Parts: sequence; structure tokens; C-alpha cells
Amino acid sequence: MTIEVEDGGFRGYHNYYVPEEFFKTDPENGAIYLQDGERAAKVSESFINGLHLGIEEEIGDTASLLMYETGQQWAMQDMKRFNEKMRHEYGGGKQDIWQMNKKFVLESWWWPLTIQGFGGWRVTLGDKHNEALQSKGLSIVELRNSAVAQSMALAGKPVCHMYAGLFAGVFSFYDREERGCIELQCYAMGNDVCKFLVGSQKQMNAAEFWTKEGATATEVLEKLG
Ligand SMILES: [Zn+2]
Repeated sequence: MTIEVEDGGFRGYHNYYVPEEFFKTDPENGAIYLQDGERAAKVSESFINGLHLGIEEEIGDTASLLMYETGQQWAMQDMKRFNEKMRHEYGGGKQDIWQMNKKFVLESWWWPLTIQGFGGWRVTLGDKHNEALQSKGLSIVELRNSAVAQSMALAGKPVCHMYAGLFAGVFSFYDREERGCIELQCYAMGNDVCKFLVGSQKQMNAAEFWTKEGATATEVLEKLG
């Protein structure tokens, strides 16, 4: 379902810095829409907490995998929509996101999620600006105010599996190669920021093994040399 967006959507209105510019409300039908017409729902921390704990209660240890795969699916759907939007908004209807600067594309993708309450991120790409990461084929995402971790602050383990899946999906879509992602440290374990590593699935399997053995984020990065 979509609604008409007067000055937004594909017609070149890039700037939205506050929720009032980004959300459209339809009080008559009790609905909230995002800037480009997508339907949204406002939920509390308790809802996010209940969703995670409820799934875990139902299916046990595989809950984290389910949330990861949910994130991946979300990324795939979202990137198709996002590419279409970027092509019209910045690419003159001709250029796709792959023909634009990767950092710019990723920042443009994430900013609406910050307004939606998913937290602030900082990406360090493994590219010519960071040769150490480039040589390993890795990128790092730091996330502040993770909606999931904040709702499960005392979990004592990484809980942002949906975010990890989301990043894996987005990097896979952009790089056109399968990418995995693992959360090395999490706010729910007492860290200031959640820290994610993005790379090949093989590297992520190794990183997961070392993390479970108790290695810190820095140690995992060193071992992946
Ligand atoms: Zn986290």
C-alpha cells in the first residue's frame, strides 16, 4: 500500500533530518508511512525484547540463525527498493548504485534507518583508505544505540543477529558476492558499541569460532591475517 508523497519520494528531495520530515501519518486510518510511502509501525523496547525472547523460547538456539536470516531477507528486499530510489534520486534514472561511490551509497542507505530508531553506524570499508582491512577483504561496522541490544541490555552475549544478517545481505547485494557478518562485541555484553565484521563466509566461520573461544574483537582481526 502506498500514499502520495507531495515533495518526497523520487522527486529529488534528499534532505530529511528530523522525524517530522521523514514520517507521514494518517491518523484517520491509524497508519504511519515512511518518506517514500512504505508502511511502518512504531514499537516499544518491550516489543523487541518480547519478540526475541519469544522466538528463543519457541525454537531454542536456532533463534539467532532465524533472526540473522530475517535480516538477510530484509536487506535483499530493501536494497532492490533502495537501488530504484537511488537511480531516480541521484542517478538521473540511468545510474545504478554500483556506479556510485560505495561509501556514499551505504551512508544514504543507513541514514533513514537512523531516523527510524535503528541506531547510528560507522562503516570502515576495506578499501584503498584502509589497506590493512583491504588485504584481508574485510569491512567493519560499528553500531551505537542498537534497538535490539538496548532492549536486551543484560544478555551477556551478542544479540544483534538481525543487524548482522542485514549487513551481510547489504554487502552481498552491493559486492555481488556472498558476504557473511558476525557481531564481535555487543552493547548487551557491556561494550559501548556493537561491532560487526563483514567478509567471506569462510572468514566469518573462523571469526565465530575464535569469538566463542573468548577472543576479543582486536584479537579476531589479528588472527584473520
Ligand atoms: Zn549488539
